[in-house]
Amino acid sequence: MQILLSSIINHNRKYTELGEVATYIPELSKANKNHLGIYVVTLDGEEYGEGDFDVKFTMQSISKVVTLMLALLDNGPEKVFEKIDMEPTADTFNSISSLETRNPQKPLNPMINSGAIAATSLIYGESCDKKIERILKFTRKITGNKEIGINYDVFRSEKETGHRNRALAYYMRSTGVLTGDVEDILDAYFMQCSIEVTCKDIARIAAMLANNGILPWSGERIIPAQYARIVKTIMVTCGMYDESGEFAVKVGIPGKSGVGGGIMAAVPNRMGIGVFGPALNKKGNSVAGLKVLEELSRELDLSIF
Ligand code: GLU
Repeated sequence: MQILLSSIINHNRKYTELGEVATYIPELSKANKNHLGIYVVTLDGEEYGEGDFDVKFTMQSISKVVTLMLALLDNGPEKVFEKIDMEPTADTFNSISSLETRNPQKPLNPMINSGAIAATSLIYGESCDKKIERILKFTRKITGNKEIGINYDVFRSEKETGHRNRALAYYMRSTGVLTGDVEDILDAYFMQCSIEVTCKDIARIAAMLANNGILPWSGERIIPAQYARIVKTIMVTCGMYDESGEFAVKVGIPGKSGVGGGIMAAVPNRMGIGVFGPALNKKGNSVAGLKVLEELSRELDLSIF
């Protein structure tokens, strides 16, 4: 496995040249576009890292998986999906249009920004501080990494420039999808996106999902198997923005990407994978990260289809 990962990283690194780091959150533009790393956690307890697997990056949209799990634990699926739909979209991750045109007017799914902001609002905790404390505690537990924290430079950068997210949130406040203090909910959302991780951390979250909700290294159940199934299904249909269909065809693994350059992939009953490469394609997915996962899936026959 180590040799395979090393060769995959080495010959896919050239693809980092084809993408650009995200700049719409100014702080993210400081990333090194040539970074590329992978970490694999198998369910029988083996771990392998290659390339820039220990470089820190912010979770961004990958955090939406964590907050969906927490929203499900707090409220149950019925309440969550009363507010947020579970349909894929061909629109961009921060699209506003469908919020108004769909009936009922609820966000399409919890992996696009509108749905994720709604999911965060459902997490128990009467203020941003309380919610984020619980999100961090949960993230530390499922990664087994007590050091996990927030990159406040990225948080401030996103808070200052997140006008589109603000528009989504206020629109949802007007239609009753959100209740309570919009700015407080947005702060929690911006903070969850700014949680700093490495490939290893996201591989471990994926391994728990791959293991049907149980931490493979301790045997502790984190979420019911039914919730793990819901989350993985939504990752397949909605996890890679408006490139989810192509990812399902070419890679075939439940995955979730973030504009920080991470991709988390959970191979049911086999392994969790974390990939990082901040050079993104036009859809917001890591260009070289996609190539790495495509090759790994082919080599190890990982597609679930
Ligand atoms: N914080 C980012 C935003 O809300 C997350 C988007 C992403 O990673 O896709 O725009």
